[in-house]
Amino acid sequence: MKNRSDKNIVIVGAGLVGSLLGVMLGQRGYSIRLFERRKDGRKVAEDSGRSINLALCSRGIHALKSAGLYNKVKPLLIPMRGRMLHTADGGQRFSPYGQRDHEVNYSVPRDGLNRLLVNEALLADAVDVVFEQKCTSVDFANRKAVFESADGSSNSHAFDLVIGADGAGSRVRRELVEATGGQSKSTFLEHDYKELEIPASKNGDWEIEKEALHIWPRGRFMLIALPNPGGSFTVTLFLPKTGEPSFATLTNREKLVEFFEAHFASAMKLMPDLLEDFFEHPTGRLGTIRCSPFHYSDCGLIVGDAAHAIVPFHGQGMNSGFEDCSELVRLLDENNEDWAKTLEDFSRIRKPNAEAIADMAIENHEMMQQGVIDPKYHLKKEVGFELERRYPELFIPRYSRVMFHTIPYAKAKQLGVIQRKILDDLTQDIDSIEQMDYSLAAKLLRERLVPVSG
Ligand SMILES: Cc1cc2nc3c(=O)[nH]c(=O)nc-3n(C[C@H](O)[C@H](O)[C@H](O)COP(=O)(O)OP(=O)(O)OC[C@H]3O[C@@H](n4cnc5c(N)ncnc54)[C@H](O)[C@@H]3O)c2cc1C
Repeated sequence: MKNRSDKNIVIVGAGLVGSLLGVMLGQRGYSIRLFERRKDGRKVAEDSGRSINLALCSRGIHALKSAGLYNKVKPLLIPMRGRMLHTADGGQRFSPYGQRDHEVNYSVPRDGLNRLLVNEALLADAVDVVFEQKCTSVDFANRKAVFESADGSSNSHAFDLVIGADGAGSRVRRELVEATGGQSKSTFLEHDYKELEIPASKNGDWEIEKEALHIWPRGRFMLIALPNPGGSFTVTLFLPKTGEPSFATLTNREKLVEFFEAHFASAMKLMPDLLEDFFEHPTGRLGTIRCSPFHYSDCGLIVGDAAHAIVPFHGQGMNSGFEDCSELVRLLDENNEDWAKTLEDFSRIRKPNAEAIADMAIENHEMMQQGVIDPKYHLKKEVGFELERRYPELFIPRYSRVMFHTIPYAKAKQLGVIQRKILDDLTQDIDSIEQMDYSLAAKLLRERLVPVSG
């Protein structure tokens, strides 16, 4: 390993992305100081305020593997092989994510993963993690960042490069956009979310299918549940802020019970603490941040949610942030450690991909709420899998390209638009897969996909 310790890198935020990036740059011999606003999560259990577990997929796994950490993360993972749809009449229908054994997503506890990554960062000689240091300003021209300690005192730190991994409310982003004359726009969904729980059974087992992401889709609102080690599920209610029904109308115990009995009776009977959880847990907002550029000259960069926070309906926020880390390191190799060129390339390459996954995550929200109860949803999915079996070099369902492959998000989105039209055309006049016309399918795939594949 080369010694690059003369380059003084400050990372703001030791969340999922900042701590992984600290590990990866430390492994390359850079000297890293990682400043985190919170207390040390390895010593003090501090509620991160959101999503207790997350779906990890190929892009995140690829980054963890390239940092040599995947085998350490594995014991935390529970495979989810598909979606279990819970219909309003209490029925269940399993819908696999992919058709190959490895096409699964993994549920991973946020805190466990974050603790592991911070530990790994601390193990690296070149990385120093400092807790309870909140970044309050960044001066790019003079290469200094100011942090506020828990006792209210301020300290200024010089840097050669500052990387903002400080999440959706990023201070570094605000300063970078101002310094570059760039742009940043936050848009919020009309839906908020609330985290609830299905506890483990008395025997410590999972009360519903363990290896699935459960969804109770109900049109304008839905409930989802991801498995945790130890037998529980983290349940998330996505519901409009206002209107009927909404967070604004579920104001007392009677209204909440009535709402759950009407729409989520099968889940409610597994949630003994529903009332306490609902009224005690915070309600979270769901937003998309679109900003540009992601860098400032050779001395500033933003990554992860700081650069491109997205809504969680494709399970890609952390995964795309981890991909930022592996892409940054790839570009450093490609540019022979020339940071100015690497940062410029990073902005140029990652921005369209961030836009694409932001759009696909919003579309997936519609699909999860409405599409899964579209009568042709399962037929189109079946036909999509069959086309993938017959023409694997041409047709890969968009969901699979996003979750189980690492092709750029923008390409997955572009191909997905064409594929959706092909599936619409092929299923327009049929009700079952037996009626499929495969010669027409082959013709459409060749005509529409070959010119843009590659
Ligand atoms: C309900 C929900 C479900 C989700 N599910 C998934 C999923 O299934 N799969 C997936 O891939 N993604 C998911 N996500 C998205 C995922 O949580 C984020 O994309 C991910 O946490 C981003 O990591 P990050 O390190 O960029 O930001 P964060 O996790 O927000 O970490 C930022 C860190 O910076 C620190 N910080 C903030 N400001 C400062 C400051 N001024 N100074 C110093 N430190 C600071 C914070 O304390 C924090 O530790 C979900 C999100 C939500 C809300």
